[in-house]
Amino acid sequence: MPDTVMRALASAVPLPLIVIGQDERITVANPSAIALFGAGIEGRHHLLTLRQPALQSAIAAALTEGLSAEARHVIPGPLQDIAFRVTVVSLGTLGVALTFVDVTEAEQMGLMRRDFVANVSHELRTPLTALLGFIETLRGAARDDAVARDRFLVTMEHEARRMNRLISDLLYLSRVEFEEHIRPTDCVDLAVLVTSAIATLRPLAEAQGVTVETTGLTGSLPLFADADQITQVLINLIENAVKYGGSGGTVIVHLSREALPCGPGIRIDVIDHGEGIEAQHLPRLTERFYRVDGHRSREKGGTGLGLAIVKHFVNRHRGRMRIESEKWQGSVFTVVLPEG
Ligand code: ADP
Repeated sequence: MPDTVMRALASAVPLPLIVIGQDERITVANPSAIALFGAGIEGRHHLLTLRQPALQSAIAAALTEGLSAEARHVIPGPLQDIAFRVTVVSLGTLGVALTFVDVTEAEQMGLMRRDFVANVSHELRTPLTALLGFIETLRGAARDDAVARDRFLVTMEHEARRMNRLISDLLYLSRVEFEEHIRPTDCVDLAVLVTSAIATLRPLAEAQGVTVETTGLTGSLPLFADADQITQVLINLIENAVKYGGSGGTVIVHLSREALPCGPGIRIDVIDHGEGIEAQHLPRLTERFYRVDGHRSREKGGTGLGLAIVKHFVNRHRGRMRIESEKWQGSVFTVVLPEG
């Protein structure tokens, strides 16, 4: 095939494509391949550009034995490595053709999915194992011990409730992924939602000796929002402030106005004066199952999904979320929701 035809064909392919001749030099690199590997690769020995052993053996097999194959090739990047699936096809006397498909995102998604399944299984297995252990004890050693039975039942209820919460949180997460691109259209009053979230959490706050106060804006605060989701955001943030920051005695929900890029917004700060969070944890708090202290979170009935849910719900409302905290200086969890 004339060189010009091969070149024209190669430039019609949107993926990076390289042709290596029988003399082991790169004879054609299409514009995408030049963007990836840099200008001047044509005419060079392929080893100078493609050094990784798996790809080298695929190229050698295609050149010498006419075999076609696939290989993984990684290009180190400044922020992250880029992984490619390279298809190596023999062109007979013309050499071999290589096409590069970027599989970085697909590989990361696969990894995240595997991590997620492993985390969910672990989170469910722990309370389940505890429950099975208690059932066995109640059937055996503690069969006629009324005091132990009552104590075990309290713990069993705690574990069962935690499993229940975990399932609800997982359902919330899977639902919000479906709805993330649908904007909420109901008109709700944020002031009413704040009052009802605080009322829901009053028993928990009283049990911890914490008072929850609202400050700032008063009167009705109309928003286009999903009432259930914003209530869940408020409950998660206030509950965390009571659970982890409650040692400070007071939790404040401060309402004010703050402009967003899309227009005016209402800002909610949930402020506690408790233990605070060290800087290195802050960027990861909204990841699924991320906890500063896993043992304490589980002890308090936490699922590690609360802030991940908050982030998704706030995103769906085109809002913003920020976390400011310092160890022993308390925390401020801020959510800004668009008014329009
Ligand atoms: P959990 O179910 O564990 O509470 P979240 O996603 O709601 O999960 O929170 C993640 C982690 O962030 C918690 O385990 C806790 O370590 C930390 N955290 C959240 N809110 C606060 C707070 N107000 N003060 C201190 N730590 C907090």
